[in-house]
Amino acid sequence: MSQRVLITGAAGFLGSHLCDRFIGEGFRVVGMDNLLTGNIHNIEHLFPHPKFEFYHHDVSKFVHVAGDLDYILHFASPASPIDYLKMPIQTLKVGSLGTHNLLGLARAKSARILVASTSEIYGDPLIHPQNEDYWGNVNPVGPRGVYDEAKRFQEAITMAYHNFHGLETRIVRIFNTFGPRMRLDDGRALPAFFHQAMLGKDITVFGDGAQTRSFCYVDDLVEGIYRLLLSDYASPVNIGNPDEITIQQLAEEILEITQSSSKIIYKNLPIDDPKVRQPDISRAKEILQWQPKFQRKEGMILSYEYFKKILF
Ligand code: UDP
Repeated sequence: MSQRVLITGAAGFLGSHLCDRFIGEGFRVVGMDNLLTGNIHNIEHLFPHPKFEFYHHDVSKFVHVAGDLDYILHFASPASPIDYLKMPIQTLKVGSLGTHNLLGLARAKSARILVASTSEIYGDPLIHPQNEDYWGNVNPVGPRGVYDEAKRFQEAITMAYHNFHGLETRIVRIFNTFGPRMRLDDGRALPAFFHQAMLGKDITVFGDGAQTRSFCYVDDLVEGIYRLLLSDYASPVNIGNPDEITIQQLAEEILEITQSSSKIIYKNLPIDDPKVRQPDISRAKEILQWQPKFQRKEGMILSYEYFKKILF
């Protein structure tokens, strides 16, 4: 019998790509999602597959899965700033109560669990680039605190289960990732700029556009997560692409790719918006022999193909 993995947030951007990868590797996959921000179309193609099952369930409520489980990947959560600002309580619950439920399930099944953490745990960072030993600079009571603190709690309770119960745990700190199946309306800079450029609307850069991010193509991220899950490393690992750019540059690159005549306009910078972000991936390189392979431009062209398909 092949190994069985539970993937929460299965209908989301990252979750659906993980479902594809694990099915491709021959695993039996149980997808779970409450479809709050996920889209069932992202996994519809998997429904006829004999090794795929789907449960429509909110993991912040008690989670039951019949039968054996070898691995759990916890990827359920609103993840874009506008989503978690709209759903602050659900975001806190899925990161805290949801994680607790899944750790309990992992214990009951003697499964290994990998939880999706984030570069947001570094907040508006005071060291640059960010390595895993940095504790971060997060405002707990600011608007982003609902996501950042949920994810920080997630890391803390995961380590506690590891240290106290001897549970096999993995923590991936995911930096900005993009690719097909991102929602054009999720509010994040990359899909928002594509959406605006494709419709000939103004590109809305927040602040002066000098803030930086480092964008990783989804296939690279999935490879890093796959390797981390199968590794024996329990401390957090950054997975992201260190190729850092300003948001102004991102807007210009998207205008070039789409050949759009949209113009760039400037709006207020959201509260606590991190000024810089770049992963230090030395640990992933050393422990997982992983580094990103896709150039940003290559990934953006693949994403553009997808965005065109869903928009036109
Ligand atoms: N941003 C922007 N215009 C938008 C959406 C986002 O200029 O329409 C900026 C945002 O303020 C941030 C950066 O782009 O500085 C990345 O934001 P995103 O929401 O993609 O993710 P974050 O990395 O902040 O979680």
